[in-house]
Amino acid sequence: MAGTTRDETLLIHGGIPEDPRTGAVNVPIYQTSTYRQDELGRHRGYEYSRTGNPTREALEKLIADLEGGRFGFAFASGMAALTTVLSLFSAGDEILTSANVYGGTFRVLDKVFRNFGIAYRMVDTTDADAFEAQIGPNTKAVIVESPANPLLDVTDIAEIAKRAKARGVMTIVDNTFMTPYLQKPLELGADVVVHSATKYLGGHSDVVAGLAVVDDEETAKRLAFLQNATGGVLGPFDSFLLIRGIKTLGVRLDRHCENALAVAEFLRASDAVEIVHFPGFADHPGHAIQARQARGAGAMISFSLRENVDLRLFLKSLRLVALAESLGGVESLICHPSTMTHASIPEEIRKKVGISDSLLRLSVGIEHRDDIVADLKRALDAARR
Ligand SMILES: *Cc1c(COP(=O)(O)O)cnc(C)c1O
Repeated sequence: MAGTTRDETLLIHGGIPEDPRTGAVNVPIYQTSTYRQDELGRHRGYEYSRTGNPTREALEKLIADLEGGRFGFAFASGMAALTTVLSLFSAGDEILTSANVYGGTFRVLDKVFRNFGIAYRMVDTTDADAFEAQIGPNTKAVIVESPANPLLDVTDIAEIAKRAKARGVMTIVDNTFMTPYLQKPLELGADVVVHSATKYLGGHSDVVAGLAVVDDEETAKRLAFLQNATGGVLGPFDSFLLIRGIKTLGVRLDRHCENALAVAEFLRASDAVEIVHFPGFADHPGHAIQARQARGAGAMISFSLRENVDLRLFLKSLRLVALAESLGGVESLICHPSTMTHASIPEEIRKKVGISDSLLRLSVGIEHRDDIVADLKRALDAARR
């Protein structure tokens, strides 16, 4: 135990901070599928690595400490985490989601869980009254992303969680864009936090992983059962990589956030850019809520180009910033949501929620900010018609 609740220290010393057997300051990679049992019916806490593995357990305890919940679970991807959480529900149940959610979240609800009789509806969670009016007799959960993907709409998590709880609805927050270093949904009243740890938590674009955290013991028992029963667990090596990544989350995010503000200001001042969505701007509609519920605005920016800029040529002209799916790595990444991350959302829904074909999403990395700005500026100039 770290003897502190300060995040900068917990990131490094939370969970199981050392190997109890040897004192090694890193929990080893227990690359084993099974464990010798002492006698029939007596084992030393581990039977089979789908059910439990010491390296995965160190990661699960760490994310639980960081999110301020008692129980953490590690999965092979963010989608595996979400799929396991959604397996808490049954045919006849209905799930509400924020209007802007990750494309894969929409896809698994629309193409997988709907086939099992679990209905879903997209609602505007940025308006608590409108959200509450959508709660029906079968509504069992709401999935919130804040800031949401890709338009960075901010939802008042405490208000949604309060109203959901009063109606017996579980609040699930996808905290991928923020991480517990910036925002702690359980403290705001949410019931379940899920992560694509592939992004900021891993932080180096070298591991695909998912996490879930709850504080309620009953929900934790059901999730532990589902994790073992459905089997989408994270392997020991990837668990180790994630623990290693999380140690530097604080310093990385401090730099990510500083860089993002500088890049967002540059984009907003450019006559090649139509609109910039960034919750760090004082005039962003969700700025006040963001400032209240999170420690920073994050490092995700979305923006659309003016008519006088060729989008394809702009993307092709970038040298430092990589055109790629994903986000949250040390390197700056840019994507085109309507053909990449959000392509699985049908065009009419994309249009309705404001994901236009001219929208770009930028994950600002931790390179020198002047180099990121210079790359964007050069590419915008090259793409001007
Ligand atoms: C990437 C992402 C996911 C899916 O996670 P994977 O690790 O790619 O399976 C879910 N939610 C958000 C917000 C994401 O960015």
